[in-house]
Amino acid sequence: MTQDQWGRLKQDLLKSVGKSNYKSWIEPLELSHMEEGVATFAVPTSFVGNYVSQKYGDQILYHVQSVAPDIRRVHFQVPLNQPVRPAPARPVAAAAPAPQRDPMMATAPLDKRFSFDNFVVGKPNELAHAAAKRVASGGPVMFNPLFLYGGVGLGKTHLMHAIAWELSQRQPDLNVVYLSAEQFMYRFVQALRERKMMDFKSMFRAVDVLMVDDVQFIAGKESTQEEFFHTFNALVDGGKQIIISADRAPGEIENLEERIKSRLQCGLVVDLHPTNYELRLGILQSKVEYYRTQYPGLTLADGVLEFLAMRITKNVRVLEGALTRLFAFASLVGHEITLELTQDCLADVLRSSERQVTIEEIQRQVSDHFNIRLSDLIGPKRVRIFARPRQVAMYLSKQMTSRSLPEIGRRFGGRDHTTVMHGVRRIDELRTTDSQIAEDLELLRRTLEA
Ligand code: ADP
Ligand code: MG
Repeated sequence: MTQDQWGRLKQDLLKSVGKSNYKSWIEPLELSHMEEGVATFAVPTSFVGNYVSQKYGDQILYHVQSVAPDIRRVHFQVPLNQPVRPAPARPVAAAAPAPQRDPMMATAPLDKRFSFDNFVVGKPNELAHAAAKRVASGGPVMFNPLFLYGGVGLGKTHLMHAIAWELSQRQPDLNVVYLSAEQFMYRFVQALRERKMMDFKSMFRAVDVLMVDDVQFIAGKESTQEEFFHTFNALVDGGKQIIISADRAPGEIENLEERIKSRLQCGLVVDLHPTNYELRLGILQSKVEYYRTQYPGLTLADGVLEFLAMRITKNVRVLEGALTRLFAFASLVGHEITLELTQDCLADVLRSSERQVTIEEIQRQVSDHFNIRLSDLIGPKRVRIFARPRQVAMYLSKQMTSRSLPEIGRRFGGRDHTTVMHGVRRIDELRTTDSQIAEDLELLRRTLEA
């Protein structure tokens, strides 16, 4: 990402966060450098950094990924050569964050939407969900820590917030603290600087449930690790529940002390797998219900959600971002959300998450699957044993590539685009009535996606 691109993204952010938020939080951000999947921005104070990370981190990451797809994290840092200024007591008036918290209260703000009710369960996340539910029930500590890991945007933070919500609802007196490993470090460093280590220690020792998100962040940060280790041990010894998340398994976090790794492995380690089609569709359906209340009067054509679930496989965050944009766009232009509108509006997202399956690959897989020759799949014979697989291949070509109907027609022995359209429609109908076809499609899609 260049400075120019960042400048343009800022303008996009201006639209989505509003002018006063923009002035306070986005405008001061300066792109500092990009390295190993992390985009680092310079911020004037650690307070701004913390707040922006919490409140806008996801949005910024989403925008950055649209021009630099391999960025996995955004990071906000006070430049080293700048004297560290104490955070202002009252931050920029216009868009001050929620009422100032008791400085001794360690927990970071929780997102209301991240509840169990809003979490869609599917095969890839059912174990993590079950473990989270168990911990949230607040019974005796059964596994300590609960360690959740998985790639970006698969629901780790969502599950942690959901646990925190549920626990604090069931037991309002419980001292539940959720924070990112980055915030843990900031607080630790701040305590060191202000000579308040005793307060820091007693604050964390008084916690009943501690949740530390994205623990991989403390890799390579020795004194923070040390302090984390002591906090961790004190809490475990006191029978307090700890919940940790990371982007990979404990053993795979580089530059993390061995004794911490082994401590983290002591409890229950569960991973969130990459999403599958069903889960993505389920998530989209549940989000659409919400959007229907936000944008009454907008209609959604059949097949749009299926198309998105099939094409945007990256992670749930990107999927959600796409849907948000789609509804916002459709509401502006006041149109029904059709497949064409979707393709126009999301062209860049679709392109960047394209798995680049080719029509040739599809044809090869389909003929293998149905045990017919490639020449028969493409050739002129119209008997059912060739025609049906051909339609399946056309359908998959339409769904999984960005080729137009005439282009697909050309690759299938120079057929007309209306023939392709007919085939695609036919399979679309059969999908819902013929379970064999549905299964064939599912199998083929998985093989092609892999
Ligand atoms: P992570 O912390 O693993 O990077 P998040 O928990 O921040 O991911 O999830 C990214 C976005 O996707 C959030 O908005 C979250 O609500 C949403 N999300 C992830 N998984 C699910 C799910 N199973 N059901 C509903 N929303 C989900
Ligand atoms: Mg997260």
